[in-house]
Parts: sequence; C-alpha cells; structure tokens
Amino acid sequence: MNFHVITLFPEMIESALSESITGRALGQGIVHLNTVSLRAFSQNSYGSVDDYTYGGGAGMLIQCEPVWQAYQEVLTRIEDTDREEKDPLIPMKEKKVRVIYTSPGGKLFNEKMAYEFSREEDLIILCGHYEGIDQRVIDRIVTDEVSIGDYVLTGGELPALVIMDAVMRRVPGVLNNEDSAETESFENGLLEYPQYTRPSEWMGVKVPDIILSGDHVKVDIWRHHESLEKTKERRPELYTEWLKSRGIW
Ligand code: SAM
Repeated sequence: MNFHVITLFPEMIESALSESITGRALGQGIVHLNTVSLRAFSQNSYGSVDDYTYGGGAGMLIQCEPVWQAYQEVLTRIEDTDREEKDPLIPMKEKKVRVIYTSPGGKLFNEKMAYEFSREEDLIILCGHYEGIDQRVIDRIVTDEVSIGDYVLTGGELPALVIMDAVMRRVPGVLNNEDSAETESFENGLLEYPQYTRPSEWMGVKVPDIILSGDHVKVDIWRHHESLEKTKERRPELYTEWLKSRGIW
C-alpha cells in the first residue's frame, strides 16, 4: 500500500513513521511513504502557499494552485508506477484515487474507516494548516474529509499520522501477529477487556483467579463480560449500538 502525504512539513511525517511498527513496515516495503512538500509548488519567490481570506477574518488560507499541482504530481507518480508494473502497451486503467483531507469539519475517524482505507492501493492525505485550504480545490480533489476529534489542532500532520498508523495496522503483514488486531477495542463493537501480565501479584493486587485458571472457555466468558461492562459504563452509545447489532435493543 502506498501513502502519499501532501504537507508543509514532510519531515514531521517521515520522522514519526520511521519508528517502531510503522518504521518496520516501511523498512520491509509492506507500505510505502511518499511525502510531497506543498512549498515546492509555491507560486512566488518567497516559497509561501497561503494568502488572506476573502471576506475578512483572522488567519491565512492555503491557496488552490499549490495543492492542485502537488496533487497532479502524486497522480503522475501513481500512474508511472502502474506503467512500470504492467505492460506499458496496455492502456492505464481509469482509477479514482482516494484523497483524504484532514479537517475538524470532517467525518469522525474510526476503526471501520481505518479498515476501509487499508484496502486501497494508494491513499493521498492532504494536510491543512493556518485556517485551512481554499474550498474550491477541496471540492475538486477530496473524496473523504476526516476529523480525528472535536478539537482544533494547528495542522493536519498529527491527524494524518493518526490516520496512517491506524490504517497501517490493518494492512496484512504489518502486525507480527494478525490476531492482535482482531481482539482490540472496537473490533467487535466493544471496548477491550482488562489485561494482565507477570507478576501475578503486584502491590498486593492479584490477577483475577479466573484468568490464571487455565480454563479458556471461562476466561473468554469473563473477558466478554468485562468488555460489556466497560463499554456500558464508558461508551453507552457504543453499547447501545452493540445491543442493536445483536437485535437485543
Ligand atoms: N479553520 C478550521 C476550522 O475551524 O475548522 C481549522 C483549521 S486548523 C487550525 C488547521 C488545519 O489543521 C486544518 O486545515 C486541518 O488540516 C488540521 N486539523 C485541525 N484540527 C483537526 C482535527 N480535529 N481533525 C483533523 N484535522 C485537523
């Protein structure tokens, strides 16, 4: 899978993803990262890509043209790779590449979206900055506007990293043990049950006996019960959804 990130701060993306599991996935070539610096497409000699907002208001806005040109560059790269991999005489297939714009005004990101995005061959992520991006280029190229939560950050780089991390975990081969993605929170619509490791007693607190019993059926029942209780208490809306999905509501 190939990530193409259009950003004012490519190093921020590259450096964060170079660590740990994401770094290993990149190193092994399971996923590829292509960062595109918006500044390279500045329309002036100062290297700036922003301007004042029409109609007044505080703050600057990223202009259409640098974003459009960066997008065109990514498309050319995707097309070139396609040509290299396939017979150059076969006409290139028409394909709509998904373009995510990170924005507080977008749809709230969740695990279902992460899974859906992980099925794409190429994913373009557009990071905003300042007050955001001119709406005309958003309307022209963006397929998915995605928010990572109801708060405002200074730029789209952290949201892009959050999205990429969650998506990468769903790409086959990225996690050593694929099972571990399947038992995580949200996977079955519930939060994950509590987990324990050695020692079996720490500061006078013991691991629940049932976990140490070796009876896998009982352990599974206990875990499911704990998942339900935790979800009911902390995320009642998820719990209601889970009940509905089981026809209990
Ligand atoms: N004027 C925008 C608004 O009120 O919706 C906020 C712009 S914010 C200061 C600058 C950039 O940070 C945005 O264009 C977006 O790319 C990114 N950003 C900030 N908060 C975000 C969030 N919760 N989710 C996704 N992206 C966010």
